[in-house]
Amino acid sequence: TRNERWLVTYKESIEAKYLRRLAIITELKQSLTAERNELSMVYQPKINLQTMQVVSVEALIRWDNHTLGKVPPDEFIQIAERAGLIDQVTHWVVTQTLQHLRYFRDMGFAFTVAINLSSQDIQNPVVFERLNRQLSELGLSASDIELEITESDLLADGPHAFQTLLNLKAQGFTLAIDDFGTGYSSLSYLKKLPVDNLKIDKSFVLKLSTDTDDQRLVHTILSLAAMFELNVVAEGVEDEAALHILQEWGCQVAQGYFISKPLPLQELLVWLRDTAYT
Ligand code: C2E
Ligand code: CA
Ligand code: CA
Ligand code: CA
Repeated sequence: TRNERWLVTYKESIEAKYLRRLAIITELKQSLTAERNELSMVYQPKINLQTMQVVSVEALIRWDNHTLGKVPPDEFIQIAERAGLIDQVTHWVVTQTLQHLRYFRDMGFAFTVAINLSSQDIQNPVVFERLNRQLSELGLSASDIELEITESDLLADGPHAFQTLLNLKAQGFTLAIDDFGTGYSSLSYLKKLPVDNLKIDKSFVLKLSTDTDDQRLVHTILSLAAMFELNVVAEGVEDEAALHILQEWGCQVAQGYFISKPLPLQELLVWLRDTAYT
């Protein structure tokens, strides 16, 4: 019957999803521990919209697995979180990124490096003990690092997250709220939050040059941020028109394909050499 056929299709799709998750978990464990060179970092520049200089690069992980192919971070990070693997992923990201940051400094670059943390990372003191130890081993400091934490993760962790942010700020890290605008934070929450930067989610920026709703939203976020003395980073700037709107409205920092895609280390160095943004 139709019902039975629907049930079979449904079961198959659940199974396919389950199998994919299982494969991701198994393969990721291998990639994290064995020397397969399947994980790598790419870096996406952020520019100051007044000076037009690179002020920071965001570190983003990439995974090219020998059987699964390229797995997007949006997919495997979430699975790693639920499988208790995120701690290892973050450790890998931090180790790799700090080595590259050491290299940037040796080359004479002064920009900061932004690292994405997931909700479990911010609840885990070991992550920050390790980060601080690795920083000092490399002659780097917390002021070289920006930590990006999503709005929804902060909201989920409530008062505890607030204390963590205070501690991190006291240690000298720059803090950014990622995906801002998607987590429904209240105004009073924003007032109390000890962060430096708001990153407007790219969903509000991608169509900025044509969508009047997005324009109103971004404009509102910018005046709100100014009121609370927060810097705003707009991600997802894909065209010159959006860049000019943001510049005109006093947005401090922009990031997006119009400026540069995320690049592997060597390509970033070439880009930095050839670009007008340095
Ligand atoms: P995110 O932190 O919000 O990162 C921004 C995403 O937008 C990145 O996708 C970036 O490549 C993409 N993007 C940047 N500019 C543009 C643009 O102009 N247009 C469009 N359409 N997209 C743009 P990516 O690298 O695939 O990462 C997706 C998400 O995966 C990240 O979102 C972050 O939540 C997570 N992620 C990536 N790397 C890491 C990591 O090392 N650790 C953790 N915990 N999460 C990570
Ligand atoms: Ca981010
Ligand atoms: Ca985002
Ligand atoms: Ca995200």
